[in-house]
Amino acid sequence: MNECLFCRMFRGEVESRKVYEDDDNMAILDINPRMHECQVLVIPRTHVEQFYQLGDEELASLFRAVKEVALIIKRAYNPDFVSLFSRGMGVPHAHIIVSPAWRNDVILTGFMLNRINILFNAAVPSQTLDKIAEKLRNARDKNECAKVVKQRFESNKISQGKRAFQYGRPAVPNQGVVTPVSVASEVEQTVCETPPHKIL
Ligand SMILES: [Zn+2]
Repeated sequence: MNECLFCRMFRGEVESRKVYEDDDNMAILDINPRMHECQVLVIPRTHVEQFYQLGDEELASLFRAVKEVALIIKRAYNPDFVSLFSRGMGVPHAHIIVSPAWRNDVILTGFMLNRINILFNAAVPSQTLDKIAEKLRNARDKNECAKVVKQRFESNKISQGKRAFQYGRPAVPNQGVVTPVSVASEVEQTVCETPPHKIL
């Protein structure tokens, strides 16, 4: 049996704080962050040591997952940037590190501070990690909702457009037409009560 830590997480033999998953990949909160305490690892199911050893389809799938996680982090923390890092010195199973970053960050300082924290055994407390993971999952659900509502908005726009054409008037707001503002409030109020996401 493969003893790789990440393979064991995929098999459910080791617990992790999962914040996203799809058929090919999962994303977990890093318990040993070096850039920011909300540092996420996006991991492909296929066991290879380096991301560039994946096939093209698997690599495309991995980076689609990276994009989803970046959007989750953006919604949860609204950073100036979402940064990526990949090296593979820790666990020899390919993974992309995704982390929020701000304009005034000095990454080197962050690295050094976190190294000092780890040396003095002051890593991020478990309860804090639980809260961060929950915040990311909430953001994931809202992103999923936004996608569903956007699709509905697009299809409504098409049908509204057809209707307006039939009646010879433009489809404008204040006449019951779906607008981005109504879509935004629908995201927050209606659809998010039953988010279409996988139960982790
Ligand atoms: Zn593995």
